Amino acid sequence: MQLRYGFRLYPNGSQRSALARAFGCARVVFNDALRVREDARAAGLPFVASGELSKQLTASKKTPERAWLGEVSSVILQQSLRDLDTAYRNFFDGLKGKRPRMGAPRFKSRKDNRQSIRFTANAGWKVTPGGKLRLPKVGDVRVKWSRMLPSTPSTVTVIKDAAGRYFASFVVETDPSEVLPETTPEVGIDLGLSHFVILSDGTKIDSPRFLRRAEKKLKKAQQSLSRKAKGSSNRGKARLVVARAHAQVADARREFHHQLSTKLIRENQAIAVEDLAVKGLARTKLAKSVHDAGWSQFVTMLEYKAARYGRTFVKISRFEPTSQVCSQCGVKDGPKPLHVRTWECKACGAVLDRDINAAVNVAKAAGLAVTACGARVRPGLVPAQRDETGTHPKPRRSTARQAGIVLL
Ligand SMILES: [Zn+2]
Repeated sequence: MQLRYGFRLYPNGSQRSALARAFGCARVVFNDALRVREDARAAGLPFVASGELSKQLTASKKTPERAWLGEVSSVILQQSLRDLDTAYRNFFDGLKGKRPRMGAPRFKSRKDNRQSIRFTANAGWKVTPGGKLRLPKVGDVRVKWSRMLPSTPSTVTVIKDAAGRYFASFVVETDPSEVLPETTPEVGIDLGLSHFVILSDGTKIDSPRFLRRAEKKLKKAQQSLSRKAKGSSNRGKARLVVARAHAQVADARREFHHQLSTKLIRENQAIAVEDLAVKGLARTKLAKSVHDAGWSQFVTMLEYKAARYGRTFVKISRFEPTSQVCSQCGVKDGPKPLHVRTWECKACGAVLDRDINAAVNVAKAAGLAVTACGARVRPGLVPAQRDETGTHPKPRRSTARQAGIVLL
């Protein structure tokens, strides 16, 4: 299977200019090819094949307008055409219902938040004996190696983010020889609204303090930006602060997702989640919280770690009515408004916690062996609606539980 490893890059001045040129060339090639296809579509002509675009690229390098494309590695230009093909494929698959709907490919801009180029094996990039990353027509770039690569990577993507930082993302093939010893617990996971995740054993896990702190910082930076006059130099500075805070939130969130997914994979033999198809939710009120929680990134991590370490991962259809069915007796008693956090099952009398009940149902729908008792708040007793105030008076279990997590 393929895994990605990201490292921070520190290019010097001339390397930064070379990278800027490479980003620019890759973008122009992408946009030129997109225009060719869009023009063909507007004229009612058939879809322009990749081979044809590749030929046109070679020809355009001989014209004075595009001669400067020769200043960068030709591999990144070919990869840019590949990216366009991928964007079209995703778009078409979305139209056919094979995946969540996506917009049509869009033109790239110099002002985009993320610039990237990709070097494949035949580009002749390598890691030098001195530990630098040698990129064709860029030079030997300093890398902060934060962990070992398990094997020689096939491709490297160089990224510049909105905060002006550079990263190298390596794709590495790993063999599934790292299978963890078998264990018995199986768990269903539900995406909570009051917590990040809820497990079918009743554990509720919130995002850690370092992430909440980064989020608070971002909010402050955004407020400060909104007070700056348009076009002022202070606004430019504030915008950079916001971009940096954004990047920190993204990093902190990724770190949290890594820690939590690793812990869950280590402790459970089988894991089930609900396929929320986040894009489908984007139009609902849930959108913000779902996106913020980064659920799909987390689920992706669970999925590849399960494959890598020999665990079972099941995604159940999002049409399973996980919040409508009593996890104790299986009676379906219909949808409940979001503010209803606990209810009493009319059939069996169990008082159920909405989130845990859903997590148990996810596990059951996936055919996992879980006990349903975690979902029961109190058999036969109706608890006060303590969530009405909007605060969460339960102890913050997650922070303590997070200590001592071993990174895989
Ligand atoms: Zn029941």
